[in-house]
Amino acid sequence: MRSEIGNLIGGQTSEAAGGRFEKLRPGDGSLLCTAPRSGEPEVRAAVAAARGAQREWAARTPVERGEIVRELALALRARREEAAAIVVEETGKSLELALGEADAAVEMGFFVAGEGRRLYGRTTTSAMPNRTVLVTRRPVGVAGLIVSFNTPLPNYAWKVFPAVFCGNAAVLKPSEHTPASAAFFGELCQKLLPPGVLNVVHGIGSEAGPPLVESSDVDLVSFTGSAGTGRSISERGGARLAKVVLELGGKNALVVCDDADLDRAVEWSLASAFSNAGQRCAAASRVVVFDSVYEEFRERFLAGARTYETGPVISEQSLERILRALEGQQVAGGGNRLERPGWWLAPSVVEDVARDASLSRTELFGPVALLYRVGDLDEAIALVNDSPYGLTSAIHTASLHRAMRFAEEVEAGVVVVNGGTHGSEPHMGFGGVKQSGTGWREAGIEALDVYTEWKYVNLIADPART
Ligand code: NAD
Repeated sequence: MRSEIGNLIGGQTSEAAGGRFEKLRPGDGSLLCTAPRSGEPEVRAAVAAARGAQREWAARTPVERGEIVRELALALRARREEAAAIVVEETGKSLELALGEADAAVEMGFFVAGEGRRLYGRTTTSAMPNRTVLVTRRPVGVAGLIVSFNTPLPNYAWKVFPAVFCGNAAVLKPSEHTPASAAFFGELCQKLLPPGVLNVVHGIGSEAGPPLVESSDVDLVSFTGSAGTGRSISERGGARLAKVVLELGGKNALVVCDDADLDRAVEWSLASAFSNAGQRCAAASRVVVFDSVYEEFRERFLAGARTYETGPVISEQSLERILRALEGQQVAGGGNRLERPGWWLAPSVVEDVARDASLSRTELFGPVALLYRVGDLDEAIALVNDSPYGLTSAIHTASLHRAMRFAEEVEAGVVVVNGGTHGSEPHMGFGGVKQSGTGWREAGIEALDVYTEWKYVNLIADPART
């Protein structure tokens, strides 16, 4: 891994006029690397490089672009250990998690590559004789891709692979917390993509992000991150009527009914709340338990939380923000910073939080679970839905009726019965309702709707007969 990372613009590594910023290791707070502190000039250069490369890239057939994406996935698979090792240093997560994420990114590449031979359009009928209408997918143009730090490799793969496959050129603005994995990913892609098709611009979000969102030469902004940043991107992008796709946060709920398999329910609740230090958009940060099993669940959940191996959170600011949110709360377990270098928070369990309190409605993005007690399914569903977010949800029950009612009535993009609040798989569209997104789905063939526009081509076979 390089200690000095550069931007990748038009196939060249370059610096930023604004100098460099430092990236520290969350595991111990030591310096990992520095990266360019980019702003408007670097973003402008990257967008120009993308614009310059896009037409020629789009002129290649989808089959050829699919083959190149397949090669990218194979190249990443061949270097999965190296990629995962970088992610471990950069985020502090376990090697096992990082390897799983590298594999998930590879799988996304394979799924997207298959679209090369499947990029289906439609034909449709017409009221006019002799008219055939072809409905085809066209690239959007230049895509500005802005992503979160939490699972960096899948975050790049979920956006970059479908974006370039669909014939777009892209400017990736990774999180300032993950410059090393973004540089690795960019260099890997650079070996197989023509210069300018993928550009990587590092920088602090508030400095490098807005020029990308505001650039009139960026046809699509695809963003994964917090609702607050999403709102600002929506306003800036909306002002110039750009296509803006937002995948945002969650305050996801997992419900444990009185007929649940309690061992499994505890296991899934722990993993859903605390894996990746709770830094998952799909994390179960609200655990809603039926009254009659509450005490037993609580005891086992607290015992599990005490020994759960989470990684550190991503930054000192993030840790301080979470500790501030826990002040004055009824903390049943954890709630403290671990006595070691880096940014470690003990897995934390909070009880008796009012449903309308800000803690119940704010995503903390850390290893914190709130426990709620409910009398029945009606109350559980009402509580789950009493949230500004609606990304994922889960219910543990032996009753098919309860499961189906929950699936029907819960306001969320994803429902899991007897499992964790998962993310997704490459062939499944992922996204949420309310403030968890703006109605788009990533991954799956749904991603094609993000990265293409429909074009209606009218063919009049015999002009004399119309
Ligand atoms: P964040 O909003 O702080 O940052 C996300 C990205 O936006 C980063 O690259 C950042 O540099 C950039 N950014 C920051 N300010 C910007 C601005 N003013 N203009 C343009 N870009 C700007 O989020 P984060 O802390 O990196 O990630 C955590 C959030 O992401 C959580 O809310 C989580 O739920 C969400 N998330 C959602 C999904 C999903 O698929 N729905 C997946 C992963 C993470």
